[in-house]
Amino acid sequence: MSRDHEDPRIRYYRQAIEALGVGCFDVELADGPDDQIAELGRAIRSLAQAYQRRLSLLTSLSRVTEKVNSGMTLDEVLGFVYDSFQPLIPYDRIGVALIEDGGVVRARWTRSAASEIHLGPGYAAPLQGSSLQQVISTGEPRILDDLEAYLADHPQSDSTRRIVREGMRSSLTGPLVARGRPVGFIFFSSLRPHAFSGEHTALFREIAGQLSLIVEKSLLLEELAASNRKLLEAQHALQHQAAHDALTSLWNRRGIVDMLGMELARADREGSKLALLVIDIDHFKQVNDAHGHAVGDEVLREVARRLQEGLRSAEVLGRYGGDEFIAVLRPCTVAAATRVSERLRGLVDSTLIPTRAGLIPLTVTVGAVVSSADQVIDPDGLIEVADHALYRAKRAGRNRAEIAELR
Ligand code: GH3
Ligand code: MG
Repeated sequence: MSRDHEDPRIRYYRQAIEALGVGCFDVELADGPDDQIAELGRAIRSLAQAYQRRLSLLTSLSRVTEKVNSGMTLDEVLGFVYDSFQPLIPYDRIGVALIEDGGVVRARWTRSAASEIHLGPGYAAPLQGSSLQQVISTGEPRILDDLEAYLADHPQSDSTRRIVREGMRSSLTGPLVARGRPVGFIFFSSLRPHAFSGEHTALFREIAGQLSLIVEKSLLLEELAASNRKLLEAQHALQHQAAHDALTSLWNRRGIVDMLGMELARADREGSKLALLVIDIDHFKQVNDAHGHAVGDEVLREVARRLQEGLRSAEVLGRYGGDEFIAVLRPCTVAAATRVSERLRGLVDSTLIPTRAGLIPLTVTVGAVVSSADQVIDPDGLIEVADHALYRAKRAGRNRAEIAELR
């Protein structure tokens, strides 16, 4: 038969097949008698529909994978799964449960079109003895066409009772298996009985591997983020430790000298002055000698507490070493430095220090220096000047303050 006498439907379907080749899946059936050509047409159309489904499946999967790779959390990714596969699988609810160490299956995520959720994240049940065990051992998705009937036959199934209460009437349960290891389940449920068929289990089988990888990958990312957080916390703790004194929790020598450096730079920028106070306990050695080192430690802690109490929160206090403390006040004048030094001295002197060895009388001596707005000086230089003032005050009889001023 020459092409002139060809049935026009043949040309139509030939063009439709060519169109399929370039991604046009929209094949209409041609008008004509219900003969072998019509049968061929129907076959071409169902092939086109299968292609169409496959394409949208792959598109959805690659979009979800993209989300995982962009660092979304598992919950966000599952939300995306819910939105993406609805045209392909007729669900009104998706639940995802993960198998935990020790054989417990715990609901991790649920989204539902129904208003009530009775089986939500956190719900846990042992895998052993549950019907899910069969899903794992066969590795096959399982359809329950009528959940109410299933519940009547298996009244002990608490999870079924819960989703029936939510209004679900049929379900498709698929195992999630990553790298040969069962990791959990995905539960598709519908408000209608008999919503799922072999077509949907076939579809699930196609996406199962990828879906499992997605779940596993985002779980790994979550674990990674959690251990990153822990590392950061540990790093912060270490940084804190490196700059703080274990006995008094004040800045340690390194910390307080660093703070002094920063405060000096700020004073320099702002053209303001700061005061540095060196506070040293008088005859502290005698406390140790008379009552022991542990009582000495108690005294150091109590002095630190009193000094802190005598300063405003923005003022910096540190333990420079042994029985010597440093306070940095900024901005500050000679008058203010004198007032604060006197207050700190009085806070130690005014009441006895309570210790396990009883009440101990104690005093401190303060050497202070007020920086100059014109003269640049480094932390060590400033500490040295304050130390000289301290030495003079000790020589003058202790329990007093001596203020030096840089000009
Ligand atoms: P001064 O009035 O001249 O300051 O006399 P002092 O006895 O306080 O003399 P000094 O500052 O030299 O003595 C400090 C003592 O502090 C010496 C040291 O044994 C003690 N000390 C240093 N660190 C600690 C500590 O962490 N705990 C205790 N209990 N004692 C410490
Ligand atoms: Mg001392």
